[in-house]
Amino acid sequence: QTATHASGNRKKTLVILGSGWGAISILKNLDTTLYNVVVVSPRNYFLFTPLLPSCPTGTIEYRSIIEPVRTVAKRRPGEVTYYEAEATDIDATNNKLTLKQTLGSDAVKAHGEDTLTVTLDYDYLVVGVGAQPNTFGIPGVLENSCFLKELPDSQKIRKQFMDCIETATLLPKGSAERARLLRTVVVGGGPTGVEFAAELQDYIDGDIRKWNPEIAAELKVTLVEALPNVLNMMNKKLIDYTEGVLRDLGIELMTGAMVKKVDENEVHAAIKQENGELKLVDVPYGLLVWATGNGTRDIVKNLSSKIPEQKNATRGLLVNECMMLQGSKNIFALGDCTFTKNPPTAQVAQQEGQYLASALEVLARVDDLEYQLYSTEIAGIEKERVQRRLHREQKAIQPFKYQHMGVLAYIGSERAVADLVWGDQSFFKNLNNISVGGTFTFFFWKSAYVQMLLSTKNQVLVTVDWIKVALFGRDVSKE
Ligand code: FAD
Ligand code: NAD
Repeated sequence: QTATHASGNRKKTLVILGSGWGAISILKNLDTTLYNVVVVSPRNYFLFTPLLPSCPTGTIEYRSIIEPVRTVAKRRPGEVTYYEAEATDIDATNNKLTLKQTLGSDAVKAHGEDTLTVTLDYDYLVVGVGAQPNTFGIPGVLENSCFLKELPDSQKIRKQFMDCIETATLLPKGSAERARLLRTVVVGGGPTGVEFAAELQDYIDGDIRKWNPEIAAELKVTLVEALPNVLNMMNKKLIDYTEGVLRDLGIELMTGAMVKKVDENEVHAAIKQENGELKLVDVPYGLLVWATGNGTRDIVKNLSSKIPEQKNATRGLLVNECMMLQGSKNIFALGDCTFTKNPPTAQVAQQEGQYLASALEVLARVDDLEYQLYSTEIAGIEKERVQRRLHREQKAIQPFKYQHMGVLAYIGSERAVADLVWGDQSFFKNLNNISVGGTFTFFFWKSAYVQMLLSTKNQVLVTVDWIKVALFGRDVSKE
């Protein structure tokens, strides 16, 4: 499991690509004095994605759920270098990365080009670049949808939703165009789609109704899901409960409806009928939010195309049980950019990050012992002692084991669902699964997420946001 000394130095260079759940979990848990640590990511902050669906409506302010990479790095014992750039090429043969500065700022333009390209050497590389929204190549999705993956997505949704309201207000009541503008279509009944649809309906009922009751009564949220149910990873009882709550809220559920094409003003879906025939329906929208899961990033496709062992890696990088890239001896990968038996969740990426941090610490000790053995002149008893330690350390890296804690999702009107796993999963297999939904679960959901936030500052900010909403409601400004 050891790499050759690419740099020839005793202390190796570890480059971490990404600043998401996986990458930041490594950074938070690694003894950074053991490596020259370099973090590369086009996003200079960590984003707490579980609360992102609360941002477009203003339930949560976006600053409350981000943490700068440099703040996380500053708390670590060793020096960490951060580069705000995107990795555009990984040369796994020569251990070299190509980085592109994505800012397009005046400083970059002063070099005469819109982008600045540099190369970076590594001894070990961790790929934690996540995934991108999946459009499945469906025509019109990219041009007409908002996604909900990053902060700018949330800001775009907010602006477009408010634009629709303001324009519709000028149009005659009962006109088809007014109805279209006041309809939000959310495609994808996974947790992202469900949580966003629920947040939006809460906002319409709780806040827009106060300021603009006429418009609130006309605003409509439609959730389109290809499968027969939403939240398919939950058990049947929770699915039924969720669908009941969403319908009670007034959200229109279109299940068994596969979107095939998107136009500027309409979504075209095929609905399977009871007789098995497909019925085509056109759903007009003012705002379209596309939440159909994860697709593979170009950098991941590019890397897998160069390594023969990755030729079947169509849905993400293939790694061994120690998160090492198949076909490599010094590249690791984790999180949503990999394809493993575990789901693409923050929970998995975070645990993989914790695991890799401790594996990399062992690796640093192994490398150091090898350095003593092969690059320094030791002999006799001292050499045997080092060899024994090396043997012990090499055995210390155990395969990664995922501990599933369960799934939580907000479903609207201060209710949440939870499919939780309790205690040791090898015992009492069916006894330690708890499936609950309701208001109590909502408070559990809140407290669980507050605890998971990266810093005390974020915990305080999120709590204050919730208190502010409870006392004053959410505002209806465009920003
Ligand atoms: P990410 O967190 O996406 O991070 C990827 C990082 O790589 C980013 O910093 C990005 O800027 C960077 N990057 C991208 N391209 C490059 C490049 N070329 N070079 C360098 N860096 C690059 N999971 C849960 O378990 N519970 C939840 O409640 C939950 N809620 C969610 C809500 C929403 C709205 C979304 C979208 C996801 C949610 N998830 C949740 C899923 C969870 O966010 C992901 O599984 C998790 O973010 C994966 O972590 P990651 O580190 O692999 O990728
Ligand atoms: P997802 O993959 O979980 O769900 C996407 C949904 O879109 C699926 O149900 C799929 O059937 C549907 N779909 C796909 N193509 C469609 C089409 N053409 N027309 C209609 N429906 C279509 O995606 P997600 O909700 O973005 O979640 C991504 C990952 O993040 C998952 O692993 C999820 O568990 C995790 N996540 C977790 C939480 C949470 O735990 N609360 C919240 C958000 C995301």
